[in-house]
Amino acid sequence: MTARVPAIIVHGGAGPSPADGLEELRAAMRAAAAAGWARLSEGGTSLDAVEAAVRLLEDHPRFNAGRGAVLTAAGTVELDASIMEGDRLRCGAVAAVSGIANPISLARRVLEDGRHVLLVAGGALAFARAHGIPECDPDSLITDRQRQRWIERRGSAGAPQATAAHPEGARDVPRGTVGAVALDARGTMAAATSTGGTPGQLPGRVGDSALIGCGTYAESTIGGVSCTGAGEAIIRTALAYRALALLKDADDPDYAAKVAVDVLVSDGRGDGGLILLDWRGRGGFASSSPFMPVAWQSPTLPSPVVGF
Ligand code: ASP
Repeated sequence: MTARVPAIIVHGGAGPSPADGLEELRAAMRAAAAAGWARLSEGGTSLDAVEAAVRLLEDHPRFNAGRGAVLTAAGTVELDASIMEGDRLRCGAVAAVSGIANPISLARRVLEDGRHVLLVAGGALAFARAHGIPECDPDSLITDRQRQRWIERRGSAGAPQATAAHPEGARDVPRGTVGAVALDARGTMAAATSTGGTPGQLPGRVGDSALIGCGTYAESTIGGVSCTGAGEAIIRTALAYRALALLKDADDPDYAAKVAVDVLVSDGRGDGGLILLDWRGRGGFASSSPFMPVAWQSPTLPSPVVGF
């Protein structure tokens, strides 16, 4: 066993700047980093840490994950989540699930079960039932705020408009997907991401957050990544895996994050951001969107640091 300095970094989604509630977001980010850090300091695994951090944000109604998720074109909530540990590349993911308040815990159960990597919709729900993951009324995940946005959006619905920067039509990137990356004292890296997707998405659409290598990736000898932003662009560029390849080459977390986001914008034709940790526990993050809340904690920082 290699003793490592533990660390955790969390994000609350890339997107437009919020009109209000900055303090509330700051407090939630701090609480998420602290929840993950508590697991690491009690000797828990990095998987425990990222699951705890993401669960806290899934439960918070301001984030586009779990309760508070954006609504599909049909006015429903469909959730995507994935989780990975970097020693043996074990991973689990769920997509387009309804009626599960903490899809990250369902993804973790898929990881632990080990037979499959990705379960979707009804199959994921059946697996949840078989494994005792609590279900909820799907409508209980819909907040007044998101219902109101859906009503407003329906009034102005239409195909995304093409612009010079986004020839296929600018994506309506929401803010509030959540993710975490942690390194534990055993040197195991883990990463996790959870989202409600993009506002007004077609029912059945699956984004990067459910896809290993796109929204989430971890390899303990290199690092771990969680992405957020225009899912189709993140999928096109296999962004999480790409960011780790850049990290391996450059050995500089901030630089790797920045170059990966440049690739997302130029090759993927979308906006977004990512957080990462390298195998030593050094953090990095970058975003092409106006806003991406981030918080991190390590033994040298007495309490979580929050940045926007
Ligand atoms: N990447 C997520 C998706 O496309 C959304 C986001 O991060 O804001 O589903």
